Amino acid sequence: MKHNFNAGPSILPRIAIENAAKAVLDLNGIGLSLLEISHRSKDFDAVMDETVALFRELLNIPDNYSVIFVGGGASTQFFHIPYNLLEKKAGYVNTGVWAKKAIKEAKLFGETIVVASSEDKNFTYIPKGFEIPDDLDYLHITTNNTIYGTEYHTDIDSPVPLVADMSSDILSRPVDVSKYGLIYGGVQKNMGPAGAAFVIVREDLLGKVSRPLPSMVDYRNHIKNNSMFNTPPVFTIYVIRETLKWLKSIGGVNAIQKRNQEKAQLLYDEIDRNTLFKGTAEKEDRSLMNICFVMNDGYEDLASEFMTFAGEQGMVGIKGHRLVGGFRASTYNALPKESVEALVACMQEFERKHK
Ligand SMILES: *Cc1c(COP(=O)(O)O)cnc(C)c1O
Repeated sequence: MKHNFNAGPSILPRIAIENAAKAVLDLNGIGLSLLEISHRSKDFDAVMDETVALFRELLNIPDNYSVIFVGGGASTQFFHIPYNLLEKKAGYVNTGVWAKKAIKEAKLFGETIVVASSEDKNFTYIPKGFEIPDDLDYLHITTNNTIYGTEYHTDIDSPVPLVADMSSDILSRPVDVSKYGLIYGGVQKNMGPAGAAFVIVREDLLGKVSRPLPSMVDYRNHIKNNSMFNTPPVFTIYVIRETLKWLKSIGGVNAIQKRNQEKAQLLYDEIDRNTLFKGTAEKEDRSLMNICFVMNDGYEDLASEFMTFAGEQGMVGIKGHRLVGGFRASTYNALPKESVEALVACMQEFERKHK
């Protein structure tokens, strides 16, 4: 049995994959594959409508926000956001690689300042208590830092529209959407296969920049056309719908948050207890989605042996990002608690071997 700790693309609910596989063979018994019909057919239209409706329901998205799915990924949104929203000045919180990439793109469109950063400690914490200038068009944060295993655990207050990259923690906890101007992310961590980004945007923020917008960049075109301004990634959307149906069936974001807290607690407790390992992120900012750890001081040379040992026990995808090293166990929504228990058992057995 494999325990899938991949960081992204990553584990999805088995039922979503099975249902999508059926739809690839024959959608709704129409005798055609999901992949060979018009996105404007009534069968696919219904899929898109239900996907958006479920997303709205699960995240409790207020009526004055639009929801769209667009091709590309979070990295496409790194430039779509300033294109649509940056007129004079934008502020960014630099919490790692993804934030930096977003900053780089924003600079192409206007003045971009770094309001706070955790680079001084290799992004092992979330900056807090910094002042947010009130002359910004928006403030951009990355709510979960996939590579370093840090996460905001609350929705922060901002005097300017808050823009959040939630690629790797969307739908892992309830979010007060009304505190944000725009929430976006690639879908391939907690929602579906790669190929699209989701954007939740407060409608009054759009149409304010003076630059001309290419049609595919202008959010208003995607909103007006129910995410079908052009051909959407139909397979990706279908799997998202199945994932959202699964999430709803198990009790929604409140229920999954509880599960995610239990899973993370289990693993962090072991990391803190086990003499061979130590965590890398500040405790109060530890991510519930990406759990990073390294060999403890004095045991560094056991790293590759643990990797092999864990691999033999079915652990997949626990190698840390090259910028952090060590190990990273991604514990996304669809990862069962049993997989975390198996990893913990594996760490305990490894400790016994080396005592
Ligand atoms: C994975 C990830 C991205 C990149 O997503 P793409 O869809 O591959 O562009 C950006 N931000 C965060 C926080 C991520 O985890």
